[in-house]
Amino acid sequence: MLQMKLCGDLVLRTKCSPIEQITPDVLSTMDEMVDMMREQNGVGLAAPQIGILSRFLVMMDPDSETVFRMINPKIISRSDKTCTMEEGCLSVLGNDGLPVYANVVRPESVIVEWTDEHGANQMAEMSGLPARIVQHETDHLDGKLFVDYLSPVRREMLMRKVKKFKK
Ligand SMILES: [Zn+2]
Repeated sequence: MLQMKLCGDLVLRTKCSPIEQITPDVLSTMDEMVDMMREQNGVGLAAPQIGILSRFLVMMDPDSETVFRMINPKIISRSDKTCTMEEGCLSVLGNDGLPVYANVVRPESVIVEWTDEHGANQMAEMSGLPARIVQHETDHLDGKLFVDYLSPVRREMLMRKVKKFKK
C-alpha cells in the first residue's frame, strides 16, 4: 500500500528525476495513485507525495471527471493573467487530519505537455481548475508546495495549524 508523505518530510522538497522508460511498475503505481486520490477526495497526486522521486503525477478535472496520468509533465506556457483560488494538499494536513486551505495566486491558464500512459506525447491548454491542479502537481515534482506562494505572515499562520511529519 502507498503511504502519503507529509509536510516536513524532505522527500517533498527534492527535485524529481525524469522518467526514462515507462515500466509496468510506473503504470501500476499510477493506478494505485488514482485510487488513493479518489479515496481521499483529492484532485491530484504527485509521485513525491508517496515517496517516489520521479516525474509523474495523476490528476482529475473535477468538472468532467477526466483522469490524467502524466509522465514528465512540463508547463511550456503560462498566461499573464492570474487568478486567486483556494488550494489544499493531501500532504499538508491539519491536526484533524484534513487538508488546510489557503488562497493562492497563479496564472489563470497554462499549456502543458506530457507523455501519457501509452507513451504518446500530449499537449493541452488548461484554464480554471485543471490549470490550477496541474500547476500545483507539477510544482511537487520540483520540490515546491503551495504554501511557498503565501506571504511570510500568512504562511506562518497556516503552518501553525499544520501537523508536522515526525520520524
Ligand atoms: Zn499537493
